[in-house]
Amino acid sequence: MMRQGRPTAPGKAGDETLTTFSGHRGLDHEEPLLFERGAEGRCGVDLPAPAKMANRLGDLARPSTIGLPGLSEPQVVRHFVRLSRKNYAIDSGLYPLGSCTMKHNPRLNEKLARLPGFADLHPLQPISTVQGALELINTLAHWLRVLTGMPAVAMSPKAGAHGELCGLMAIRAALDARGEKRNRVLAPESAHGTNPATAAMCGFSVDPIPADARGRVDLAALKAKLGPDVAAIMVTNPNTCGLFENDIIEMAKAVHDAGGYFYCDGANFNALVGRVRPGDLGIDAMHINLHKTFSTPHGGGGPGAGPVVFSQALAPFAPLPFVVDRGAGFDLVEFDTDAGDATPFGRMTAFHGQMGMFVRALSYMLSHGADGLRQVAEDAVLNANYVLASLSQDMSAPFPGPCMHECLFDDAFLKGTGVTTLDFAKAMIDEGYHPMTIYFPLVVHGAMLIEPTETESKESLDQLISVLRSLAQAAKAGDVTRFTQAPHYAPRNRLDETRAARTPVLRWRPAKEE
Ligand SMILES: *Cc1c(COP(=O)(O)O)cnc(C)c1O
Repeated sequence: MMRQGRPTAPGKAGDETLTTFSGHRGLDHEEPLLFERGAEGRCGVDLPAPAKMANRLGDLARPSTIGLPGLSEPQVVRHFVRLSRKNYAIDSGLYPLGSCTMKHNPRLNEKLARLPGFADLHPLQPISTVQGALELINTLAHWLRVLTGMPAVAMSPKAGAHGELCGLMAIRAALDARGEKRNRVLAPESAHGTNPATAAMCGFSVDPIPADARGRVDLAALKAKLGPDVAAIMVTNPNTCGLFENDIIEMAKAVHDAGGYFYCDGANFNALVGRVRPGDLGIDAMHINLHKTFSTPHGGGGPGAGPVVFSQALAPFAPLPFVVDRGAGFDLVEFDTDAGDATPFGRMTAFHGQMGMFVRALSYMLSHGADGLRQVAEDAVLNANYVLASLSQDMSAPFPGPCMHECLFDDAFLKGTGVTTLDFAKAMIDEGYHPMTIYFPLVVHGAMLIEPTETESKESLDQLISVLRSLAQAAKAGDVTRFTQAPHYAPRNRLDETRAARTPVLRWRPAKEE
């Protein structure tokens, strides 16, 4: 099937109307769905006809085929290779998506994760045959405790948001043990959407705390909201404006004095690792995104892992299962009855966590060492500040002063140009860059949040900076169609995102015979 209406490129007179006969462009192929491509009776394998069997399904046997597309092996291979070439990935270029820590995933991690002794394990193997894997989980848990200065860690949560759920369930269990009904959770207005969503899912009501003029939690407003019904506060540090919450120790004290717990969203730990221990700040629970700070693939590249560290107050409520070192060997505690003095709130996953991510994260930690991890945080902060400072004349930053691992711009510099934050981001695609995070956090107008990470070289940052500077200057010079029609060079141009969200087409149906 061929698609018409392939987008046309802009540019100098003469080429703007060029469409190809094939619908392809350059060596980039327009790719239909496998279902559109399939033909009846074609098959990639040659299997012997099944032996005659008596039908024991009676009238439950399906009379028709199940509608799988008929394809040859080369068709399938080309389909997926072509799709993969359309995919933008950290391995193909800089990925400045704020709050996501899209850093390089070292190949050493991959090599170790593929060792058959780790990669080929089955989660139901007898304990005696997986001692090495349990030791690895235990060693990773140890270093997570050391790096955070926290006494306990739950390894099983499978993502940041899952870790938040784990933390709040432990808080709920601790409150139940105290015999207290506290139903309110405080969360800053700049919080990641998962924070209020988690609190609501746990049955808490969410009460937003405003930001002050410095882009931090308004401490006075926070104190005014504390009371005997406050279960916890959820604070991201560094926050989603890329700023360190300077009052964090005082916040923790105020929350504890009011009988609540301090949940820290640790997704931005990349800015602090090796420099600051959350345990020293008065935090009771914090998830760590192994897929951000510890370089395990994410964003379509792999599953996440969100271990949660706990303070002494919450440690007894950490979920099952957990690994214990019995001296003579490692064991898995799977039931309350084996948990000793601990009173786990329950269990969150069928098995023990994301083993492949554990291997990658530990290999990252051990290959960096203490000095290397500290340098990760320092270079991540340095790179973000280099971008912020370099663009200070061209773009507008809502808050004064240096930033942590990501830098935030607003749309004040686009005022009166007719170009919006969305247009600006789409124009970056034409320039070969994945856009930064936009319209988040919500506390600034038309937000653009850039997190370069420490794995970008100065040359690659200079190129990004020069593209952003040129775009800012083009917007101010009135070159509006460059933006409002963008992306011009992507396989698809500007999509109607509202329609896509309101009337999504979620299921392919065969074209009607015409
Ligand atoms: C990424 C992120 C999360 C959610 O992590 P997932 O692994 O995607 O569930 C939560 N909070 C912040 C601040 C984040 O950046």
